[in-house]
This record gives sequence, C-alpha cells and structure tokens, in this order.
Amino acid sequence: MSNKEKGVNVQVILRCRPFSDEELRNNAPQVVTCNDYQREVAVSQNIAGKHFDRVFAFDKVFGPTSQQRELYDQAITPIVNEVLEGFNCTIFAYGQTGTGKTYTMEGDCKKNKSGPNGELPIGAGVIPRAIKQIFDTLESQNAEYSVKVTFLELYNEEITDLLAPEEISKAALEDRQKKQLPLMEDGKGGVLVRGLEEEIVTSASEIFTLLERGSAKRRTAETLLNKQSSRSHSLFSITIHIKEATPEGEELIKCGKLNLVDLAGSENISRSGAREGRAREAGEINKSLLTLGRVINALVEHLGHIPYRDSKLTRLLRDSLGGRTKTCIIATVSPAVHCLEETLSTLDYAHRAK
Ligand code: ADP
Ligand code: MG
Repeated sequence: MSNKEKGVNVQVILRCRPFSDEELRNNAPQVVTCNDYQREVAVSQNIAGKHFDRVFAFDKVFGPTSQQRELYDQAITPIVNEVLEGFNCTIFAYGQTGTGKTYTMEGDCKKNKSGPNGELPIGAGVIPRAIKQIFDTLESQNAEYSVKVTFLELYNEEITDLLAPEEISKAALEDRQKKQLPLMEDGKGGVLVRGLEEEIVTSASEIFTLLERGSAKRRTAETLLNKQSSRSHSLFSITIHIKEATPEGEELIKCGKLNLVDLAGSENISRSGAREGRAREAGEINKSLLTLGRVINALVEHLGHIPYRDSKLTRLLRDSLGGRTKTCIIATVSPAVHCLEETLSTLDYAHRAK
C-alpha cells in the first residue's frame, strides 16, 4: 500500500546520477538500471557466480538522463504549491556522498547564474527553482507578502549560521562554535534558533548570491576547522507570509514554510557501527540522521510516539514533519558497481520510508 493510500504525506523518489568522467574512463560496470515510467529501479548483483536482480519501486524514479527541471516539475511543484497555501513542507536529499544530493538541491553552482530575463540555468537545483516558483506565484497575485530565508549547517549536533555576516577567520569561527546557537521552543509547536540570521528576499535573482555566500562559508569552515563535509547537514528554510482579505473584508495571514535539507552522506550511518573506537564521535555525528530515519518510520507506521526530541535536526523540523505537512525524500544513488553496497543500503532506507 502506498503512503498516499495510508493517508501519509511522505513521497519517496529515487534519482540515479550519470557516470562520472572518471567512472567512464575506467569503464566502471553499471549495476543500477532505472525504469522511470514503471517507477522502478533494478540492481544487478553477482553472488557466488549467480546473477540476481533486486527491484525496488518508488513514487517516482529519475534515471541518469533526467534533467533538473523534470525532477522539479514532476515532484516538487505540487509541494511548493502547498507551501504557498500556508502549509509547512520538507524536502530531503538522502544518499551516499558523491551521488548528487547537493547537485539536486542547489545545482551546478559554477553555472548557476540567472539568464538576462531571470530565467534559470539548466543546472539549477531545487532551491533556486522553488524560490522562482514562489516569486512567480506571489508576483502574479494581488497580495502583500514577505519571503524570508535562513541557511544553517548542523555538524556534530552543533548549529552554524551560514548567512551570518561575520568575518570568516579561524578565530571567528572557533569563537562562533563556542557560542553555540541555542534551540528554543517557540510555544507554537516549533523551535527557534536564537540569533539565526533571517534574510529578507525580494526577488528570485537574489538566491544565487545567498547560496554562494552560504556555500563559501561552509567550505571555509570545513577547511579551517578540519570538518568533514560529508558529515554535515545543511538546512535551507524559506518562510512565506501572505496577507489576504477574506470576502467579508477581514484580514488573513497565511504562513507557509519550506525546508530544504541536504543530509550528511548516508555512509555515515552504515559504517559508524563498525568503528568501535570512534563510536562516541560517530554516534554524535549520526544522531540526526539516525533519528530522522526513526521519525519517518514512526510517521509512516502511524506509531503513537514520534521521537522528534532525540536530535537537533528533527527538533528543527518538528513543525514541518507529519500531520498536515508534506514530506519528500529524494534518495540519490550512483549507477556504478563500486558503490553497490551503499546503493543497496540507500534503496533499503528509502524503501522503508514508503
Ligand atoms: P553529494 O552532495 O551527494 O556528495 P554532489 O552533488 O556533490 O554529491 O555530486 C557529485 C558530483 O556528481 C558533482 O560533480 C555533480 O555535479 C555530479 N552530479 C551529481 N548528480 C548529477 C546529475 N544528476 N547530473 C549530472 N551531474 C551530477
Ligand atoms: Mg554535497
């Protein structure tokens, strides 16, 4: 039974990236075959000389030739429409490092510049496309509105503001790390990150500057503080307020929030168990990823207790997961044989969320 039939608003889609230049040079064998129309993915394995195919079904499947725009139009547009109606929604990219999470969410940054008429570059990912859809819709309506964004990173259960306008030096970053941004309940079922920079966006074209600013800060912090980028989550949130008048002439404020989450590499959960000596470190790093899995399972299985409180990420997303909200998980995989083990673990994880 699909989540839709069960009344759960969790959609799971699968995207397989194309072979990289290096994989092509090495003639890497292909083990993943996508059937976009049947919404199925087949993984071929040879075990003890025997050939096996495992087939997984998803709500949508995007094979290696799929374009950013197709994925957006088919899977994301309806979610952003919900946000414009005043609901909270969350989109996750989940998968092994190097399989296209950031490409899917942010896009190909080097080519990510708007065209002369504000049209999007073909490499633009979900975040710039969502912003564009939001402004296109709001500008066509005769209503007052505001659009605010925040961009943060979660590393080792610690929050860093990727939009804070401070100096990016090692001392400044370490100082910032000591002054952790605290999470506080907002009394309305959500949480607030105290001191987090909220940027008001007035047109779609500003998004690339913001994304670049956040990504530059993330890269610098990684280098200066020896962070491993594959272990951090990034959360880009867009909050929209729309002032509308009812037919009776009353004023109504609609508020919707879209969370776009580029998760830590999934290999961080599958391997952490094996490294005893680093268990504590690994445990902390993966707490958010592990808890997210449990929260989604609890939502899909209609369990009474949803363990939102067990990690920072799920606390941050509490008002945007479950209930009337829509959730979309984009699981990303590589087509090549050297990723087989992680691919199977990603497919299993994503399939459990269905
Ligand atoms: P991740 O964020 O999961 O670690 P990236 O998004 O950085 O992975 O992708 C790794 C590389 O593969 C990048 O060079 C990216 O441009 C490329 N890539 C990923 N997905 C696609 C895709 N669907 N089409 C073309 N190139 C892709
Ligand atoms: Mg990435």
